[in-house]
Amino acid sequence: MSKSQVIEQLQALGVNKGDTLFVAADLMKVGYFNRSIDQTLKDWVDIFQELLGDTGTIVVPTYSPQFLRFFQKYDFVFTADTASDSGSLAKAYLNFSPGALRGRHPTNSCTSKGFHSEKIAASDGPEFPKYSPYAKVVELGGKNLMLGIVDERNCPFTYHHVQESLGHTKTHPFSRLFETSYLDASGEKKKYIVKEVGGCTGGVHKAWGYHLAKEAVKFGKVGRSLSALVDAKKSAEILYKVMTENPHLIKCDNRSCISCYGRFRYNGAGAIWFYAREFPILLGKVLRRLFK
Ligand SMILES: [Zn+2]
Repeated sequence: MSKSQVIEQLQALGVNKGDTLFVAADLMKVGYFNRSIDQTLKDWVDIFQELLGDTGTIVVPTYSPQFLRFFQKYDFVFTADTASDSGSLAKAYLNFSPGALRGRHPTNSCTSKGFHSEKIAASDGPEFPKYSPYAKVVELGGKNLMLGIVDERNCPFTYHHVQESLGHTKTHPFSRLFETSYLDASGEKKKYIVKEVGGCTGGVHKAWGYHLAKEAVKFGKVGRSLSALVDAKKSAEILYKVMTENPHLIKCDNRSCISCYGRFRYNGAGAIWFYAREFPILLGKVLRRLFK
């Protein structure tokens, strides 16, 4: 598979010059390789530059680690230069994309390059809601490329954006359970407590039918993998409707999932049974962790 074939496949999927494109990717699944890892990552930056042109913008999640409060010791301090744990495409844009701007959010920064890059980075920091850059991409009429990640775990970024706009991210059972640290504008080390949690995305694929009905998604092969291109505005409207009228739909199939089954909002009175059943198991896990 050549670089130009990848470009053609992405164009056939609907990626155009001038697009604001949020890309979440599993590059291994796509299976495009050049002679070294570094060269392959540089090629991916070139691929998107050619696809989007100077009027387009790419946005890539470049998230950073978070740590369990009270239990986990860490010496990590987030800055614009710290590595990301969001995979190869994050590495490509942090290391091989001169002019790309990384946001300042200590756990959920995005890195963007192109026409709207400054606008997107400006709303990405510890003083903003965690998914603010997502809101910007929706507002700008952007698209979401799910590159090699159409499966039963991943979903369009619009899901966490909608959860945030409905206040769901602040009531997740893991809210305030994690933290990290970062350097503020004056170079002082500050603690950041993660109050917003989007949580499990393992059931959101059940909403693809609504997307198909509204022509909000197109699926297609890119390399070896199935990929999707999502209209962010339409998708946000669809998921807003699902999350306000029928949030039960997006529960995953794992009944031990606290994110889907331990929340009254998503599981109704079933959440009581969840805790009755799972609490002894959870307690056992915590105790084993503490005394291992
Ligand atoms: Zn779940």
